[in-house]
Amino acid sequence: MGETVLVLVLNAGSSSLKFNLFDMGKEVSVAEGNAERIGLGEANLAYTIEGEKRKEAMPLPTHREALEAILERLRSTVLHDTPIHAVGHRVVHGGPKYGDSVLITEEVIRDVEHFAMYAPLHNPANAMGIRTAMAAFPDVPHVAVFDTAFHHNIPDHARTYGIPYELSQKYGIRRYGFHGTSHAYVAARTAILLCRPLRSLRVVTCHIGNGTSICAVDHGKSVDTSMGMTPLQGVIMGTRCGTIDPSVVEMLMEYEHLDYNAITDLLNKKSGLLGISGVSSDFREIELAADAGNDRARLARDLLTYNVRQYIGAYATVLNGVDAITFTAGIGTHSTYVRSKVCSKLSFLGVELDHEANEQGTGERIITTPGSRVVVTVVPTNEELMIARETIR
Ligand code: ADP
Repeated sequence: MGETVLVLVLNAGSSSLKFNLFDMGKEVSVAEGNAERIGLGEANLAYTIEGEKRKEAMPLPTHREALEAILERLRSTVLHDTPIHAVGHRVVHGGPKYGDSVLITEEVIRDVEHFAMYAPLHNPANAMGIRTAMAAFPDVPHVAVFDTAFHHNIPDHARTYGIPYELSQKYGIRRYGFHGTSHAYVAARTAILLCRPLRSLRVVTCHIGNGTSICAVDHGKSVDTSMGMTPLQGVIMGTRCGTIDPSVVEMLMEYEHLDYNAITDLLNKKSGLLGISGVSSDFREIELAADAGNDRARLARDLLTYNVRQYIGAYATVLNGVDAITFTAGIGTHSTYVRSKVCSKLSFLGVELDHEANEQGTGERIITTPGSRVVVTVVPTNEELMIARETIR
């Protein structure tokens, strides 16, 4: 591969390991893939290398075997003897400490483990991914890129919860926000689409996927976002409940005899689109069922679009006006219905959707008319590229 600068981006989940290998000289991905069902008997390794897709079934007892299997395939195809220069790790929670990406040391790993108190479903897996990769690549820099970092400086009034202040301080209980690399990326791309500097714009970014969060980006900085201390707050999601009255938790624990693990599971894995519709957490299946007349699927779909609209309205106030609204992630990028439904009641802000551009275009684009006071864009997100850029930086 000659003089290329290769950055391996890793995103470790509890039973998965996603990877993306970037040639940062050209900022292109040369290989990407995902190991799934790690530690669960027969696992899958799916990857695309040099444009060729493959999927293999094999036992992958731990993340170490998964990483070894990934590296073996990279070495026999694109890597050969070319060294990897650095490894970038997606870390969900940086707690109160990390407002920027950081070169990983033992202290950083311990912090990531410690911040599992805020992200028990994500941070332990992220830390394990880091340890595994550092053992495989002991001599290259490893960088942690936090989902929370972009939101690190949102003002106190936007991140404080109405509980006793001493407890907030004692435990770091506050809004942190997530999907930071995605919000930062799509806001920057939107500025490019508008041919205006980001520092002159007020943008509401809508990351609508399995996880959903909305962000108010004021002249390039996050000033509020819908997710909270954990990724459970805000808009309803595939399986997460979004914002609910906290008393619902007490009531269900009492009357359904649920302990901590059971209520955590219910709110994170059995709620949202899945819990309301009873059909699926996958929005494509919700759309099919809703179109076929399933009332609960319609309700789930309506609630999602309503929540997104609510946040856009709220953030128009937070930003004292909006120049652009951006849709991204699986649903935001692909669902013409969600975008048109959300935008249909934003005419008071000056949004005038170009229906043809919304329905027929693909990729990065503007989907409002030339006369629309607020520009609406679609920008497919690229969190892995952002992590690779951060790693180089
Ligand atoms: P994650 O948060 O896991 O990265 P994604 O951003 O990939 O998730 O979003 C996944 C969601 O996007 C799923 O609900 C899926 O149904 C939805 N989605 C993907 N493609 C389409 C499509 N063409 N139309 C509607 N929804 C889609």
